[in-house]
Amino acid sequence: MSLTNKQYDAIMRSYDRRQYLNYRRQCMHREEIYEKLPKIRELEEAISALSVQQAEKLYTLPQKTGGEDRESVLTDLRCKLSALRREKEALLTKAGYPADYLELTYACPDCKDTGYIGRKKCRCFLKEEIQILYSSSRLQTVLSEENFSTLSFDVYDDEQKAAMPAVIRKCRDFIRTFDTEKPSLLFYGPVGTGKTFLTNCIAKELLDSGHSVIYFTAFQFFEHFSVTGGPEAGGLEQRHEALLDSDLLILDDLGTEMANTFTVSKLFQILNERALRRRSTILSTNLSPKDFRDIYSERVFSRITSCYTLVKFIGSDIRIRKKISRSL
Ligand SMILES: [Zn+2]
Repeated sequence: MSLTNKQYDAIMRSYDRRQYLNYRRQCMHREEIYEKLPKIRELEEAISALSVQQAEKLYTLPQKTGGEDRESVLTDLRCKLSALRREKEALLTKAGYPADYLELTYACPDCKDTGYIGRKKCRCFLKEEIQILYSSSRLQTVLSEENFSTLSFDVYDDEQKAAMPAVIRKCRDFIRTFDTEKPSLLFYGPVGTGKTFLTNCIAKELLDSGHSVIYFTAFQFFEHFSVTGGPEAGGLEQRHEALLDSDLLILDDLGTEMANTFTVSKLFQILNERALRRRSTILSTNLSPKDFRDIYSERVFSRITSCYTLVKFIGSDIRIRKKISRSL
């Protein structure tokens, strides 16, 4: 899967906009400071005049003959320049501003909000790309309907109603401690007991608070990772990297894909890598813990039990009951 031209253009436009806003912010800061601290303006003018002098000397003084003279002239200029810069910073900090208040600042200092480092896409670009390709299309539509404000126990049977408050508390804890503890969850239980719904509730809360969330069904996920080689291989590798780095990765419906040695080792590698990077993951499965262990190996299972909170969903299929109640 790759970006359409329209999607690519939209990302590039957002970089243009960011750069424009950075520039605007710098202009506003400058106006504000010139008004409050006129001395800064003088210093900046002196700095720019000296910089011009420095450049001129660099190109006009002969390099070989009189080398020492050239060096001492340049050293002298450099000293003067850094003294002026220090003076400017001292004035700013004394007035309660950060020392770099008049510099251009970037949301992503790595690529200076251009999206590229040389000819390679920056991490921030890849993050955006992943969001567009794998999350937004599905999540945006679903999340408007499935979130904590639309959560209702009406469709649950009595046993589920009794169990749900504890489940919801675990979900709330997950969100509350997301930034500090980097927690992970395993939802398990029969089909249609609300696992995906609650996963969506969590996803919405985290997206709303500015986190990157990627959602995959197990099937899509392993399909994505099974693509190797070909002309897109380099780009794919970068995309894997961005994917492993997302704040939250949701793998829904584990156990419905055809598990084999490849999927088992891939799953272990991913869970391991994310744990090492302290990134949160939510796994959901219809399998019982025992079946899960049998299918995905002891190694994967013990990785999960050692650092995931296990959340059990009980009862019968809500979707079937919804259909029955609608047809009555
Ligand atoms: Zn960047």
